[in-house]
This record gives sequence, structure tokens and C-alpha cells, in this order.
Amino acid sequence: MYQPYPFHWVPAAGQRHASTDRRPEGALAYPTGTSVATLCREQVVADNSEIGWLWPTCDGCNTEAHRIAREHRTTSTERSI
Ligand SMILES: [Zn+2]
Repeated sequence: MYQPYPFHWVPAAGQRHASTDRRPEGALAYPTGTSVATLCREQVVADNSEIGWLWPTCDGCNTEAHRIAREHRTTSTERSI
């Protein structure tokens, strides 16, 4: 069964960060103004504007997101064996 990664991308403070915070029920992204704890250990306020998604990816979040994705894949594989 497909399992989504346990983090979401969130444009904030001029960069695209990632967060494991829960999104509001039914929301596909954190609404603008949501305070979000990022993978690079910052507390930022989401800016879910169109331009926000064009901002460069935060290095710290990118590194951490790849680590989580790798671990996530490993765990999923082990579970299915
Ligand atoms: Zn970040």
C-alpha cells in the first residue's frame, strides 16, 4: 500500500521549507498564516501564495526530507516482507 511521506512542503520566509506538522483537516497545504515547525528547526509562518511555491528550497529541510524519505522507504519495504 502506498504511504505518503510524513512531511509536507511549506513556503515561508522566502524559502520552501518542509514540516511534519499536521495540516488542517482536508487541507492540501498549510493555509497562509499557519505557524509551522520546519525540518530545519525553525518556527515559520506559512505563506501559501502562488509566488511562495517558486521560492528556492531550504537546504536544511531538503537534507532532512531526503533522510526521512529514505528511512520511510526502508521501513515500508521491511514491513511488506
Ligand atoms: Zn527549512
